[in-house]
Amino acid sequence: MKVGVIGTGYVGLVAGAGFADFGNDVVCVDIDAARIAALQAGAMPIHEPGLAELVRDNVAGGRLTFSTDFAAATADAEVVLLCVGTPPLPDGSADLSQVLAAARAVGAALHSEFTVVVNKSTVPVGTAEAVRDAIAAVTTRPFAVVSNPEFLKEGSAIEDFMRPMRVLIGVGPGAGPPASGAAATVDERARTVMRRLYAAVVRTSDRMLITDARSAELTKYACNAYLAMRVSFINDVAGLCERVGADVELVRRGMGMDTRIGPRFLFPGIGYGGSCFPKDVRALLHTAREHGMALPIVAATESINERQKQVLFHKLLRHFDVPASAADSADALRGKTVALWGLSFKPETDDTREAPALVLAERLLRAGATVRASDPVALTSAAQQLGGRVQLFNDAYEAASGADALLLCTEWRQYRQPNFKRLRQLLRGDGIFDGRNIWEPAQVREHGFRYYGIGRG
Ligand code: NAD
Repeated sequence: MKVGVIGTGYVGLVAGAGFADFGNDVVCVDIDAARIAALQAGAMPIHEPGLAELVRDNVAGGRLTFSTDFAAATADAEVVLLCVGTPPLPDGSADLSQVLAAARAVGAALHSEFTVVVNKSTVPVGTAEAVRDAIAAVTTRPFAVVSNPEFLKEGSAIEDFMRPMRVLIGVGPGAGPPASGAAATVDERARTVMRRLYAAVVRTSDRMLITDARSAELTKYACNAYLAMRVSFINDVAGLCERVGADVELVRRGMGMDTRIGPRFLFPGIGYGGSCFPKDVRALLHTAREHGMALPIVAATESINERQKQVLFHKLLRHFDVPASAADSADALRGKTVALWGLSFKPETDDTREAPALVLAERLLRAGATVRASDPVALTSAAQQLGGRVQLFNDAYEAASGADALLLCTEWRQYRQPNFKRLRQLLRGDGIFDGRNIWEPAQVREHGFRYYGIGRG
């Protein structure tokens, strides 16, 4: 099939390379000319395991090309995927300006006999209709708009794309008046095109669910809010563990053995971040408010997460015997040097959007601390947000050198079994703060450190 992809971020690049790998003819378009030039030159704008090889192989095979020209992506295309950003607006709602701009540009360039325009971006309920209206305003060519939310996870995006847990396709208006004869035909054609597009992906086990567009749009938000809720739930339980002298690591394992609950997304830490959970939780709350609902569980998910991002900071104050009343002083940690390990919002990605580590770094700087940090791949994106205010090191041990305390923020594989003996020699102080509970407290203490985890008694 001929496939156009609009937006070459985490979702667009993975989908573009993935569909090309199944033998389709894919053109990826972006308005960021520098990004397209880099991709044309063989450089990768993001870090995602396996993506560089997948892109390289499909470019070499002549199935994947990059362009800034929307006509290149829409000429003869049966499917055009919208994979642009939907960042949060100040009121929490999703900013649809990239989606609608992309829709208009695609609409103006349409010239296939019939094109299915697919919303892969995470968008609020009703956006498929808004995209349809935006395209209809600029073209007379036949087209359909379907919702096909993406569920990939950064760090395992290719595997998630190639072997998804489900493919959700939302076609048609859903629980509205019955479609007219013409609309019904368009919807049926769209379904056929989407089934064909995903045939290779769902070949081993058919996990395709076809719904109406509104239900598909809401499913994506409900999934992210639910997963975020599990994280906030266990973080709240971790707080209680500290009060009552229980170990959340045992509690979460005991919970996860219950097949009704399962072990995933039950890891306590310093809060969730990234480009999806925080903004999607807020956007869902916004949608609910617009419809007169509060969604209190989702609201609590968000407020617990905001609190959780401050947990290590408060533990650090107690470690240094700084009274809680001085927490907001610009001198609370003056003279202290703090090392951070891990800046990306989770391992295996360079994405630092809403990363808890960066929130922590800002908090430490406000309290007058000197911050040194390391990350296996996210130093460039972290530097864009932190500027020169944090000293960044490729080598994790160099970052820890001379620090009064070491704070683990992201559970990168490289940090799982550090050389604590060497760390003891490098650190000036004795505070080890394990923000992801990846270290064995007894082992850390054996080396003369004071160990602080999350919810471990
Ligand atoms: P991203 O910010 O990494 O990439 C978006 C790309 O779109 C950028 O390269 C940008 O230049 C380009 N763009 C913006 N406006 C454009 C336009 N008018 N025409 C062409 N290109 C344009 O975004 P992402 O992380 O890939 O996310 C894209 C969407 O997918 C978002 O809605 C996000 O919520 C959703 N999503 C993301 C993930 C994830 O893990 N990143 C997972 C599932 C869903």
